[in-house]
Amino acid sequence: MLGVRHYKGIAIDLFHGDITEFVCDGMVNAANEALAGGGGVDGAIHQAGGPIILEECRQIGSCATGSAVKTSAGNLPAKAVIHTVGPVWRGGQENEPKLLESCYYNSLKLGHELGFRHLAFPSISTGIYSFPVQQAAELTFQAMRSFIDEFSDKTTIKRITMVLFSRDDHNCYQDQMFQEFSEE
Ligand code: ADP
Repeated sequence: MLGVRHYKGIAIDLFHGDITEFVCDGMVNAANEALAGGGGVDGAIHQAGGPIILEECRQIGSCATGSAVKTSAGNLPAKAVIHTVGPVWRGGQENEPKLLESCYYNSLKLGHELGFRHLAFPSISTGIYSFPVQQAAELTFQAMRSFIDEFSDKTTIKRITMVLFSRDDHNCYQDQMFQEFSEE
């Protein structure tokens, strides 16, 4: 049974699978600063979405760690891709936690500015960038809470989904989600 929580009228849930097949409005990509495409979820999103995404990334140029930018979604089942750049884990003393929270917060804010209803996130920074998954999961839901506390009365966003590629990641995010948000 997949978990879902509601906080101030917004649903937060989890999905175990491939984000490129997940139907949503804003599909978040774990990009790099050069917006150059790469491996992991970034490669999968460019592969499935088609060349229009990289073309638009080139026009934008770059994205600072913790920030978010938008491109078209090409062939993906979404209205747009929101590219955010997670921090590379360097031991935790180089502002990595704050930067990871900024990724989630700024992606949600951009989705809100675009008038989107449903955003889907991969587990940012926990692959090639080596951020410890449990700490990342804690920070993810804290960032969602901060965004919802500030925007719940004025945002179009009604659902936020974490799409986890592995069963272990899914279980870890589920535990943290249940700890952060109790049933209303
Ligand atoms: P980062 O460079 O930010 O660490 P990665 O793409 O290496 O990003 O990994 C982030 C997470 O995305 C990892 O948990 C990885 O397993 C997951 N991932 C890889 N491909 C997909 C996909 N198609 N859908 C969802 N998650 C994916």
